[in-house]
Amino acid sequence: MAPQFVRANVRDMAGYTPGEQPGPGERVVKLNTNENPFPPSPKVMRAIREIDEESLRRYPSPDAADFRHAAAKLLGLSPDMILAGNGSDDLLTIATRTFIPPGGTLAYPDPTYSLYSVLANLEEAKVATVPWGPDYALPIEALLATKANAIYLANPNAPTGTFVSPMKVSELATVFPGLVLVDEAYADFADDNCIGLVKKHRNVIVTRTMSKGYSLAGMRFGYAIAQPDVIAEMMKVKDSYNCDAISIVAATAAIEDQEYYRQKWEYVRRERQKMSSELTQLGWDVLDSHGNFILARVPSGKGKETYLGLKKAGILVRFFDKPGLNDKIRITIGTAQQNNALIAGVKDLAADGE
Ligand code: PMP
Repeated sequence: MAPQFVRANVRDMAGYTPGEQPGPGERVVKLNTNENPFPPSPKVMRAIREIDEESLRRYPSPDAADFRHAAAKLLGLSPDMILAGNGSDDLLTIATRTFIPPGGTLAYPDPTYSLYSVLANLEEAKVATVPWGPDYALPIEALLATKANAIYLANPNAPTGTFVSPMKVSELATVFPGLVLVDEAYADFADDNCIGLVKKHRNVIVTRTMSKGYSLAGMRFGYAIAQPDVIAEMMKVKDSYNCDAISIVAATAAIEDQEYYRQKWEYVRRERQKMSSELTQLGWDVLDSHGNFILARVPSGKGKETYLGLKKAGILVRFFDKPGLNDKIRITIGTAQQNNALIAGVKDLAADGE
């Protein structure tokens, strides 16, 4: 039993469970946490190596000024529309603390990123989950009916990889009076995004991460985009120095090297297409993904057995033990070699089952 002196809302919640890590020294094909299969750009590695002692001795820029400027330049926005965070999880935490009061409500279409409910619980806020519409359409009416303070929308969504058009999100932001947070952790792998909505809608915040598209999951860096007066309120809530000096240097060099990363995103998209059609041919039901992963129903409907079978063969994928998801597994798109290993593993399992 949890200690008596723990807050009741913390005692009662499960907490977020990240994807598993391989054991020390264990060699696996790791396709379970949607990382980028490529290293960070050489310019990022050089920038990290060149960090001087002085920048470590002193506190970092509290608003990650260099990064803010670089991101603003790339996106054609002003730096006061950018807020940097310690991964996009940090920005989700900041947004929840800024916009959802205790007793308030956070709504989102479900299934989605399971951290959202944890963040609401920490604020002693309620959660209203709304099922996705047919073919993962945005359930606008049902979301409105929740009368929530905020709606969080992962777009592309995790774990489904499905995508809602910016036009539909704009429709929602027009009729919904609260905050619409669009979590674009996977936007680098999609055809479109919602950044353009921020200028038009004061109640839209877009969050981005350097973990996926920019190969910096180990660094912890993300950013939010919103109108300056919205960013200014979030600025009051964040930790004083929420990004460290090394991650600011790395993230700035990364966002400035679009040429390198664009090629990697194209590669992942090609491999996504290849893996989707190969699994479809093997009888899997693959959702059309806009992220660097796919969610697919296994032909037997036995998601857990497939996950465990692949794990035994040294291939890690993600399994969600939830109704509606437990007949599927989520597979991160890796290098062609890793993806071939996954397909070979799947074929072996099917042969074993026969
Ligand atoms: N949003 C979504 C939808 C995610 O899947 C993830 C990764 N687990 C994140 C945000 C968080 O990413 P990070 O904190 O690494 O930026």
